[in-house]
Amino acid sequence: MATQRAISAFVPVTCRCGKTLRAKREQVGTEIRCWSCQRMVPVPRPREPLRVFRTLSDGALDVLRGSTMSWVVAGSGAVTLGLGVSRVGIGLACGLLILGVAAYGRSIRRTSDPALGPGERWWRMLVPASIVAGVLGPLMVAGTIWPLWAHHAGYHQSPRLDRTGLGIVALAWLLAPLGIWLTSANGRDGRLRVREALGLTFRYPMAVFAALAIVPAGLVVLEAGLALLLYLQGNLAFFTLDFLPMPDDVLLYGGIPFFGTIDFRSIPAEQYVSKYVHCLGRGYSIVGAVPPSLSLMTRAEVSSSGIYLPEEMYAFGRFLATFAIVGWSLMAFAIQARWLGLIATLERGLRPETGPRPGVPNLSGPPDRTESHGEETRVGGLDRGDDDPGRPRLGLGGGEGPGGG
Ligand SMILES: [Zn+2]
Repeated sequence: MATQRAISAFVPVTCRCGKTLRAKREQVGTEIRCWSCQRMVPVPRPREPLRVFRTLSDGALDVLRGSTMSWVVAGSGAVTLGLGVSRVGIGLACGLLILGVAAYGRSIRRTSDPALGPGERWWRMLVPASIVAGVLGPLMVAGTIWPLWAHHAGYHQSPRLDRTGLGIVALAWLLAPLGIWLTSANGRDGRLRVREALGLTFRYPMAVFAALAIVPAGLVVLEAGLALLLYLQGNLAFFTLDFLPMPDDVLLYGGIPFFGTIDFRSIPAEQYVSKYVHCLGRGYSIVGAVPPSLSLMTRAEVSSSGIYLPEEMYAFGRFLATFAIVGWSLMAFAIQARWLGLIATLERGLRPETGPRPGVPNLSGPPDRTESHGEETRVGGLDRGDDDPGRPRLGLGGGEGPGGG
């Protein structure tokens, strides 16, 4: 699994004589003595970003290939059906998501502690991982749904993400994940202390940033994708008219918009692109407007016969789009939880084991004597790394090499 080879305790250093030395991570930036030719060799910074990146991308693939995806599909199906219930759809969807949100913190805990994983009963996923997670989880759901789908939504009103909504959604996507992470992640000996978790956020700022950014970035990508799809299909004009504020000079004849005497179908789609972009800037979006349209009315209630589409097909299309929007978002949150859990594992193997953990086989053994390439080795039984920081020139050759002198 990805976590097993997350970060090695050693930095491999190649000497000019061709031997590979292993330096402790604390020795980065100093020099160590080659145990073979006795030359001093500088210890370079390990290519950490690459390894962190690999850990995270493996984690994302695990989510996409693993059982999490079936939960995401089932969850988005249930939420989409809930959204379809007339008038109360948004509330129902919110309730369903709050029921399932404990899985978010649980996933962080399971990922941060692989020993927990397989044995855990599925219903444990419904129990919040911590008191803070139990409070922040529902707030995260409400802080996502209300600004995106409910704010300003109503009779002939599409939801609009205004400044208030933007502030709330920013809090929900920033503070809630961090708060749940800080209180749910497991460390080597059970619960990771908040101070330790905070330290990790500062040591791996890019990983934390990626985890926090995946949800908003995912929605931006989805919005762009849906708009492009509609544009290519020639239906962006229809969607723009149906969901975004209509121009003042528009008249409806039989549910089909006429501008003066011009049927909207005769206006080239390009003209709607700028209108769509303009409305995006004001906080309207397809991602925001389509899901609530299942239970409320669309803003303009334009007849889909205007694009030669039966009403049922139009409704089905909106259900399908909603399923995609909900599924995409749940997937982003699932990957976010996985990444936050993995960040808690990044430094495992960095600090020496304080002792065998109950229930986990003790992997410590005598250090291998060969000039190991250290990278993939799981290291235990290492002498305390912080014993003498004032001796940076201590060489640590092949495991027990004589370089230390
Ligand atoms: Zn050498």
